Amino acid sequence: MLNIDLHCHSNVSDGVLSPADVVARAAANGVAVLALTDHDDVAGIAAARVAADDVGMTLIAGVEVSVSWGGQTVHIVGLRVDPTHPELAVGLHSIRLGRIERAKRMAADLARSGIHGAYEGAFDYATNKQMVGRTHFARWLVAQGHAPDMRTTFKRYLTRGNPGYVEHEWTSLENAVGWIRASGGMAVIAHPGRYAFNARQLHLLLDAFRALGGEGIEVITGSHHPSEYGKFADLARAFSLKASRGADFHAPDEGVDIGRLPALPHYCQPVWQGWPELAPHFSPSMA
Ligand code: AMP
Ligand code: MN
Ligand code: MN
Ligand code: MN
Repeated sequence: MLNIDLHCHSNVSDGVLSPADVVARAAANGVAVLALTDHDDVAGIAAARVAADDVGMTLIAGVEVSVSWGGQTVHIVGLRVDPTHPELAVGLHSIRLGRIERAKRMAADLARSGIHGAYEGAFDYATNKQMVGRTHFARWLVAQGHAPDMRTTFKRYLTRGNPGYVEHEWTSLENAVGWIRASGGMAVIAHPGRYAFNARQLHLLLDAFRALGGEGIEVITGSHHPSEYGKFADLARAFSLKASRGADFHAPDEGVDIGRLPALPHYCQPVWQGWPELAPHFSPSMA
């Protein structure tokens, strides 16, 4: 089976490896087709492409866009986007500006709980100073001894009802899908199992997403427990959405490694079906 991983992060967002090192790690793990999908930024794509060309890997230009929908944050992955497209670039830039303002409010909220210096602390962990996020705060909180690991940090801090969490208005679902499509890409709902929606709300999201031209949904992701794969594969089929697979890799010592998840269930229609970049991997000698 061709190892295809369509969701991962570099230090352009909240991963720890450079784009080139993410590609090298994917290659070492046997990944043949990789999408780099940094949060709200495509600045890593060029370097990732150079590294991928060097090792003969197929690099898909991607992004993970932060959206507010139904009172929750929803992530929309864009695959095969044009990273130079002005509409996408301007839209992503507007989200990054909002992140800086949010970081100030997060730090102020932590200060109210007696944790001081979080703004500067989080920024120290952000390579891309425009792309500061909760992961950078969490790494700083762990380093400061406020929690033993990332998992515990997100249980105690930075999540709804806990210190460091602030409401934030991301962009709309319509904008995110619109920018991705304007740049020639395919929109995919990231890790649907992570959202605190009931079944009715999730179905409304999928309907709205489809109506806007969204095409895919992640079925196999590091955010899903293996017992959830079947449910989301069934949902993809019921809503005529194509299925995606990606580890959502961030760091060697956090979460799932690149290219190490199971394959899509056989009855799923993969998002990559018909992609011209994959043709070399299906040459007659390999058929
Ligand atoms: P942000 O976009 O700044 O709100 O940060 C969201 C990121 O925080 C996600 O992409 C994950 O990398 C990370 N994250 C969120 N929840 C958790 C969690 N429970 N455990 C570990 N990382 C998390
Ligand atoms: Mn992340
Ligand atoms: Mn996400
Ligand atoms: Mn992600």
